[in-house]
Amino acid sequence: MSIKKYSFSEIHRKAERLRELWRKFPATALPKDGVLYEYDFAPLIGTICDEQINSSDAWSFPRWLYDRLRTFDLTSLLSVNYRKMLREYLKTRWPKGMKKDQRNKYLLKTSRTIKGALTFFKEEGKTPITLFENRSYKALEVYFTLRRISGIGPKKASMVTRDFIYRSLGILREHPWYDQIKTKMPAFKVIEGNLLDMPIDVHVVKVFNRIFGRFRPSNKGWYGELSDHIQDILAFSKLTFQDLPVKLDQILWYVGHTYCNEWKPNCGKCPISEICDSSMKQ
Ligand code: SF4
Repeated sequence: MSIKKYSFSEIHRKAERLRELWRKFPATALPKDGVLYEYDFAPLIGTICDEQINSSDAWSFPRWLYDRLRTFDLTSLLSVNYRKMLREYLKTRWPKGMKKDQRNKYLLKTSRTIKGALTFFKEEGKTPITLFENRSYKALEVYFTLRRISGIGPKKASMVTRDFIYRSLGILREHPWYDQIKTKMPAFKVIEGNLLDMPIDVHVVKVFNRIFGRFRPSNKGWYGELSDHIQDILAFSKLTFQDLPVKLDQILWYVGHTYCNEWKPNCGKCPISEICDSSMKQ
């Protein structure tokens, strides 16, 4: 099976049900640690670390780092050996099953990205907070402003923009990066969130296909198929959430990460099993 076998009304029914279920998927709450809300570069470092490892560990790293440095000024942050620091911090926090070569890749990529981003701000003479002005921004302006930061790719830029939109609309109660900007720039808010496309990763591709009855990918794997499905997923996100298409990511990513294992999906507990045509629920 694939989406090609479905009539528009069948696709629309699934979209409607997902819209009803959305409230069951709370936006991720970030740690409330004061370092994240006080220092300009702390949310940026949390954002960069938030990949492959546990999200709460990623966002707790700035606090751990601050306790070591006792400062968070740019000059001190630029002198840190992030590979060494992250290795020490993650020693007891690596996700189960993350292999040694994956860990090494994470350490290399993340440490380089943090350094690259900090260097960008040094050259610009700005911080992640003063990068924005005291006015309202269209979502796509936020997206492209974030994309200028070295190491912030399309997916991260899209996720941070989505969180800023959620915070502007009150869907998120707090967000350290947004809240720091808002404290300094009270007129800051993000509008026209409906124009932002959802980020698409391997979990999204997998769950989208499984909802439409295709359980296994071709020999390219879900990752290799990513570009084959982008247009269908974006169109489906607009059909499901005309107000904010990025909301679909919240559902598909969460289900893919939490229930929809590649080999042994936990369909019995999956919150969208009723609309999934690959469900193995008894
Ligand atoms: S019902 Fe099963 S196969 Fe379908 S999305 Fe949920 S976990 Fe995946």
